[in-house]
Amino acid sequence: MTTVLTAPPSGSALPDSADGVRHVIVLGAGLGGLTAAIRLRHRGFRVTLLERHAQPGGRCGLWESNGFRFDTGPTLLLMVDYLRAVFAEVGRPIERYLDLRQLDPNYRVHYADGTTLDVTSRLNGMLEGLERIEPGVGPRFLRFLSETARLYRLGLDGFVDRNVHRRSDAFSPKHAALLLRARAMERLQRLVRRYFRTERLQHTFSFQSLYLGLSPFDAPAIYGLLPYTEVAGGLYFPMGGMHAMPRALARLAEELGVDIRYRHDVRALERSAGRISAIMMADGRRLEADLVVVNADLPYAYETLLGEKHPRIDRLDFSCSAFLMYLGVRRAYPALTHHALVVPRDLRAACSDIFGGRIPSDPPYYLCNPSKTDPSLAPPGCENLYVLVPVPNQQAGRELDWSVAGPKLEEAMLERLERFGLTDLRRHIVARRTFTPADFAHQFSATHGEAFGLAHGIDQVGYFRPHNRHASLGNLYFVGQSTHPGCGIPMVLISSRLVVERIAEEQAVRQ
Ligand SMILES: Cc1cc2nc3c(=O)[nH]c(=O)nc-3n(C[C@H](O)[C@H](O)[C@H](O)COP(=O)(O)OP(=O)(O)OC[C@H]3O[C@@H](n4cnc5c(N)ncnc54)[C@H](O)[C@@H]3O)c2cc1C
Repeated sequence: MTTVLTAPPSGSALPDSADGVRHVIVLGAGLGGLTAAIRLRHRGFRVTLLERHAQPGGRCGLWESNGFRFDTGPTLLLMVDYLRAVFAEVGRPIERYLDLRQLDPNYRVHYADGTTLDVTSRLNGMLEGLERIEPGVGPRFLRFLSETARLYRLGLDGFVDRNVHRRSDAFSPKHAALLLRARAMERLQRLVRRYFRTERLQHTFSFQSLYLGLSPFDAPAIYGLLPYTEVAGGLYFPMGGMHAMPRALARLAEELGVDIRYRHDVRALERSAGRISAIMMADGRRLEADLVVVNADLPYAYETLLGEKHPRIDRLDFSCSAFLMYLGVRRAYPALTHHALVVPRDLRAACSDIFGGRIPSDPPYYLCNPSKTDPSLAPPGCENLYVLVPVPNQQAGRELDWSVAGPKLEEAMLERLERFGLTDLRRHIVARRTFTPADFAHQFSATHGEAFGLAHGIDQVGYFRPHNRHASLGNLYFVGQSTHPGCGIPMVLISSRLVVERIAEEQAVRQ
């Protein structure tokens, strides 16, 4: 068992013992747990971080094989200012921890008719590419950017980037009026159809809701803010891979004095007198704390760790899942970009399969080749491929046997990738692994094997998403993708800032 125990840095202004200093246990070293731990420690709490796996990052994990280093989860780093903010808040230059590179293009979209579009944050380049697909679209695209910029500000200021657990905060007449005026609740497809005539561009500027595990054909227009963040804010990559991010955060946490303990599986939260009194470890040990912040998936935390059902669990909707393939290949594919999105002939039909419980016969998929930006992620002459296919979650009544479906889908995807242009792919694979919804359930305690946590329909965001503090256990808080504001790296980083602000406010009141 690896236990990493670190003393607070000498000369630190932070209190470092239990003499009057409140002790917080953070359960889970995902990006939410790591950044909550950093922020709490910076505010003077004594912090212990417990993680069941041997490495930090949770879904932002790493798999190494035969000299290949695969990021296992997130690959697109957007809204990078929220990451910079974590380091800035504790007065550390991010450059000392991470080498972030802006990508150009952001990604390449491959359409079924063989045409492509490079989505880039260089406006001229973007306009040129769009004109090739839809002549005359330039001014309409600029108006689309301006409308989605408004949605971005409205979404972030009004609902995402602040605590909304009080009804009065969530339902201000001012924000309701702004939402109505911005047509934020109309269909996303309606929004894109106002600006783009070709189906190709309508898909290009709406598929991003899939990042949240939400069908672009069911999503509300407010999610038009996602393509805006890509074009306006750009896409970044940490050299060393996405997993460099949780590693850097774990290093920062330890430097500040957070006591990180890997391979520490929590089995239960013990309660008494309306509070969590202790954490029970799987090996039988009992750890006491003044406050507990849970980064594990919230429905699992309620059901398994607390032994109670979330009051709305039976009505909660879960995001779709993902079938992932990590392929180390002994050759290069020069035509590939770092990020590529492959759109099928009928995206609507594919989405209706995914969200209706079936694996589509012609699915959209995303292909990542990070060795294009950082060759050190694969041995010389080799490349590192990551394939993500959105697939149904395992919600009751639609469970698939992934021990059968997985190998079939893997073979179908390898064939598809060869047809797509990855010539002789199968002959060149030297490292391979798949990850299925069954693995999400097993490794991350995802209730229905979903990849992206709770769904992000309008009835499950803001005030309607499970709140970041338990309703009756006053010292139990939640951080991460299943609480407010939701899934995705920037959202999870926001969630940690919001929960720490709430803790500071509520615990100051109590003392
Ligand atoms: C395949 C995939 C691709 C994605 N792509 C992107 C992307 O490109 N860009 C983007 O911004 N977002 C992306 N996301 C979403 C993003 O990765 C997540 O929203 C984010 O990483 C979730 O972080 P978290 O801290 O909420 O939870 P997690 O990462 O799930 O962390 C929770 C932690 O709690 C630990 N834990 C759970 N139970 C226990 C227990 N009982 N005892 C101890 N520890 C426990 C887990 O081991 C884990 O480390 C993707 C997600 C997936 C799955």
